[in-house]
Amino acid sequence: MRYLVILVLFVLIILSACAQPTETAALPTPTSTPKEQADAVFAEARTRMVAEQIRARGITDPRVLAAMSKVPRHRFVPMDYLDEAYADYPLPIGYGQTISQPYIVALMTQYLALKPGEKVLEIGTGSGYQAAILAELTDQVYSVEIIEPLAERAATTLKALGYNVQIKIGDGYYGWPEYAPFDAIVVTCAPDHVPQPLIQQLKDGGRLVIPIGPPGFYQTLWLIEKKGEQVISTNLGGVRFVPMLGEH
Ligand code: SAH
Repeated sequence: MRYLVILVLFVLIILSACAQPTETAALPTPTSTPKEQADAVFAEARTRMVAEQIRARGITDPRVLAAMSKVPRHRFVPMDYLDEAYADYPLPIGYGQTISQPYIVALMTQYLALKPGEKVLEIGTGSGYQAAILAELTDQVYSVEIIEPLAERAATTLKALGYNVQIKIGDGYYGWPEYAPFDAIVVTCAPDHVPQPLIQQLKDGGRLVIPIGPPGFYQTLWLIEKKGEQVISTNLGGVRFVPMLGEH
């Protein structure tokens, strides 16, 4: 009788031990968190943005398309504009400044024709979005911003997302001589003439993409290439940018 009790107890212990994993496995799978759900919605919006605004308008560089598909633009726009993060227009980022329209970011980046390892300088860090796109294409990204709180916020956002971008607070008209020369320079605010320091800080074979024109109006986007002693300018069409600040 004693042996029977021990045997029954033993069997019960074994059964309960076996039952546990089954019970665990039968638990409902945890549903995704609100953050994961939001990320999925933003990812879908980003895919649509690349298809309808970028690819459909003729951007073909696969590395630029991949960068635009990857960088979470919603992390660079103010909370008030989250639902417009992937819309087809620029958005306010405070201090009278804007994050550029996605297509313009892609177009300017494509003209920079960056190869991995090349050194690129951006003038006008703003939200940091363009800098993040550049950081997807090369690990040598430098950016100058004249409005200190914008520079600080962009640095925080970029760091949180794991992007390695060197940011300087200052007047980008004068470039960043300590790190010159650059393979490419992109200017995201519009001066009314070409800043000579930027031409000087271009490498031989370097590319400068810059809007030039009177403040408050449409400007012309230029691709300026340095080839030996020659500087070749190509008109890329009309654009609208915030003016370059500072006295020049
Ligand atoms: N590339 C940015 C766009 C920012 S808008 C982005 O992806 O969000 C242009 C930026 O240029 C603004 O933040 C403005 O403060 C900055 N800016 C204007 N004049 C400048 C100057 N002289 N030097 C550096 N930055 C300047």
